[in-house]
Amino acid sequence: MGRRVAIIGAGWAGLAAAVTLVDQGIAVEVFEASRHLGGRARRLTIEGLELDNGQHILIGAYAETLRLVRAVGVDPAGAFLRLPLELRTASGFRLRAASLPPPFHLLVGLLRAEGIGFGDRIATVRLVAAHRRRAYRLARDDSVQAWLQRHRQPDTVRDALWTPLCTAALNTPAVRASAQVFLNVLRDTIDGDRGASDLLLPRIDLSALFPEPAARRVESLGGVVRLGLAVRRLEREPQGFRLDSGEERFSHVIVACAPQHAGPLLATLSGLEPLATRLARIEYEPIHTCYLQYPEQVALPFPMLGFQGGLAQWAFDRGSLSGQRGLIACVLSGAGAHESLAQDELAAALHAELADALPGLPAPRWARVIAEKRATFSCRVGLERPPNATSIPNLVLAGDYTASDYPATLEAAVRSGGAAARLALA
Ligand SMILES: Cc1cc2nc3c(=O)[nH]c(=O)nc-3n(C[C@H](O)[C@H](O)[C@H](O)COP(=O)(O)OP(=O)(O)OC[C@H]3O[C@@H](n4cnc5c(N)ncnc54)[C@H](O)[C@@H]3O)c2cc1C
Repeated sequence: MGRRVAIIGAGWAGLAAAVTLVDQGIAVEVFEASRHLGGRARRLTIEGLELDNGQHILIGAYAETLRLVRAVGVDPAGAFLRLPLELRTASGFRLRAASLPPPFHLLVGLLRAEGIGFGDRIATVRLVAAHRRRAYRLARDDSVQAWLQRHRQPDTVRDALWTPLCTAALNTPAVRASAQVFLNVLRDTIDGDRGASDLLLPRIDLSALFPEPAARRVESLGGVVRLGLAVRRLEREPQGFRLDSGEERFSHVIVACAPQHAGPLLATLSGLEPLATRLARIEYEPIHTCYLQYPEQVALPFPMLGFQGGLAQWAFDRGSLSGQRGLIACVLSGAGAHESLAQDELAAALHAELADALPGLPAPRWARVIAEKRATFSCRVGLERPPNATSIPNLVLAGDYTASDYPATLEAAVRSGGAAARLALA
């Protein structure tokens, strides 16, 4: 039997695998349960506007994502607003990368940070310098909170810088987030290539950024993408695999679903029950995105503004990103009191937080909350993530949760897709 690969799931991981394989001349068939491409990073249409299921932010270090976006014909220069790293909060904290080569751009940026005292800035630079010397490796993983305490980071720096960064990067509260994974992200941001720390804010919707052009590329090279087709059962035969007792046989299967869907599917094959049990133990963190549409003249002082001590962690000005003037997207990462609020209560609370930062803000015309209850896996201390290869030859996993030194991100997803494809090619 020639090589013929079934890919289950058309999120960013599954489509990255599909593009990698068709580019090598391999026949692929992608099966996607829902009617849309992109999984957890996709377009939604609300009030006639093309929005996303959640505001996403990328950084320049997402090299594989940028490579693949380019490979499917999207020019990152137009698709992203690229800004040198700058973190600003409504309460006056400001960190801006200096115009210097890495790592001095951020070390000097930290020394010049506004809104925290001189001693706090020195403590921050000391922490970073100490971990650079150790190549950002911890002898033993710990929670970000315990790690900050051990390194005597002042409360002001913890609250203004480290905790918001941890929540944004790992979508896991500092009290349980893995310090090692956080350091991996810091490593690539501080010591990566020039531009690795840049913020990349999508100017186009997430489906147009990669999933749709990727599916077009797959189809143009002879692959098949089937939407609205959930695979429920895998069968193994001497000649390969069958899906849901169908006629077609595949030499390889890449299971590119999130763990809560991959587990039950893998459990249909004998021998994979331990892997399915392991996936069932993975825990998740939610993300809520609230879009608030204000009159067109409303804008934030910066495209991405941080908030402390309230419900929202970040607010994004969609007017300066995608021309959707007056539209603000508030992001609430992780679990919290907001989960028990009704949509209109949450929107009202977020409007009040925005109004504190933007005096004179008029009432929004409409607001919509999108709750992704299992937005990402909880990136906890000691979490063991499964490798791409399984104990069954030619049955491979892809997804942001597979073994990687990155948290649940688009970059982890596309890297896993590439790794799964390389296993299928081997
Ligand atoms: C609100 C939100 C905000 C986020 N913000 C950021 C951010 O700012 N930056 C960042 O880098 N990352 C962010 N992420 C994380 C990022 O979106 C994910 O890491 C990434 O999309 C995961 O891709 P994936 O392909 O691994 O999984 P998924 O996107 O979950 O794809 C799996 C696909 O498999 C399909 N499927 C499941 N079961 C079956 C079946 N039986 N048969 C067929 N198909 C099936 C699903 O429908 C889905 O399309 C965010 C996520 C969310 C939800």
